[in-house]
Amino acid sequence: METLQKTGLKLHNEIEKGDSTQCHMREMGTAHLMEIMNDYDLLPIKNFKYGQMPEALSLASWEFKKLFTQGMPDGCWFGCSLSCCKAVDNFEPRTGPYKGHKVCVDGPEYETGAGCGSNLCIWDPKDVVEINFYCDTYGVDTISFGTSTAFAMECYEYGILNKERTGGLDLTWGNADAALELLHQMAKGEGFGVIVGQGVRRMKRIFTEQYGADSQLMQDMGMEAKGLEYSQYMSKESLAQQGGYTLALKGPQHDEAWLIFMDMVNNHIPTFEDKAEALHYFPMFRTWFGLQGLCKLPWNDIEPEDNAQTDEPAKVPEHVQNYVDIYKAITGKPMDKHELIRQSERVYNFQKVFCLRMGGGLRQGDIPPYRAMGPVTEEEYLSREERYEKVLKEKAGISIEGMSILQKMKALRDFRYDQYDKLVDAVYKRKGWTKEGIPTIEHLKSIGMDLPEVVEVVKRFL
Ligand code: SF4
Repeated sequence: METLQKTGLKLHNEIEKGDSTQCHMREMGTAHLMEIMNDYDLLPIKNFKYGQMPEALSLASWEFKKLFTQGMPDGCWFGCSLSCCKAVDNFEPRTGPYKGHKVCVDGPEYETGAGCGSNLCIWDPKDVVEINFYCDTYGVDTISFGTSTAFAMECYEYGILNKERTGGLDLTWGNADAALELLHQMAKGEGFGVIVGQGVRRMKRIFTEQYGADSQLMQDMGMEAKGLEYSQYMSKESLAQQGGYTLALKGPQHDEAWLIFMDMVNNHIPTFEDKAEALHYFPMFRTWFGLQGLCKLPWNDIEPEDNAQTDEPAKVPEHVQNYVDIYKAITGKPMDKHELIRQSERVYNFQKVFCLRMGGGLRQGDIPPYRAMGPVTEEEYLSREERYEKVLKEKAGISIEGMSILQKMKALRDFRYDQYDKLVDAVYKRKGWTKEGIPTIEHLKSIGMDLPEVVEVVKRFL
């Protein structure tokens, strides 16, 4: 009890002191990321084509703050010091079955603001709140809704979709009425909502087969992997986040390896080796929170004042030690920071084998759509031309003199896939897997996960 009280009090004091300068989680929750991501060209806009737009400031956290009910403990549980949950009370929807009623909306969180706001060019925070409300009410995930709708809107922009095919919906960027109508249709199982509600992977196939869409374009701009829609960070310039997303066992969500902030904002993992190590360590560390039933936000959202001076700032060593101390105090069992990772490795490798048994889990499922790695269209390339030319010249070592735009785009694409491939090789090796992403028997033995049923499945793939 003494350890729990001491550690809890220390953490509470850190949050109390640090939140107003580091994250503003108590006032704005995760919505504080909106303006940071926009500043760093990482906020998804128009189905992840761009990462920044002046209009995005109309969805900045201070705009959501005006709508959030303030001044009360607002957490998943009453005692949470960070209290990052936010709500809009007495909101009046302008559409759908709750039109004119006063409702309470849980959120919006960053992912909803980005996915159902900026990625669709919907710039009114109240429209985002309304989409948030109906997604929650219907049981639709806001990330998948946002990314699927963004994909449909881009198809509409290219003429792959039109009013005839959408049943009259004008899916022009920014049309909040159409996005809401689509959501209501989805929930009722009617109209074009039935198509979009199937998600990006199926839309890619349907649009190719039924509307003659270019299958390569569908593959490149369809932001899904393993059948799951991407969550809301631009990973084009972050090799670490490309891996973090696509190597995640359950698809490109940000729970397993959220490396964008430490890679692009804090610059904590600059080298190739750092990134490979991070893609081993962080999915394991984050899995551990799930194993213990703990929230991971207090781990690195507020950092100790001297964290930057520690040997591994990205891991927040003082906080890792807190968890070790708490675990030992509660269970009475021995534990250190290495055993903590090993606990997760057993489960993570078991999950991997489970994926293999279910027909997934191979390297081919770990490849991102190109939109997550670089510019798919000429328009995208030109919008960041200087940056891409710098990459070609300085990182890829290519002389671009006399090359056409298309040739430069092709060279950039080849370079980025090559880098990604090398990253995957390095990460698999670090995880104790073969080049195909299969855990080796030696590795399973070394972590104590060589159960006969597990080994039997793995042997089929080796
Ligand atoms: S438990 Fe975690 S998610 Fe919930 S309010 Fe606290 S910090 Fe936020």
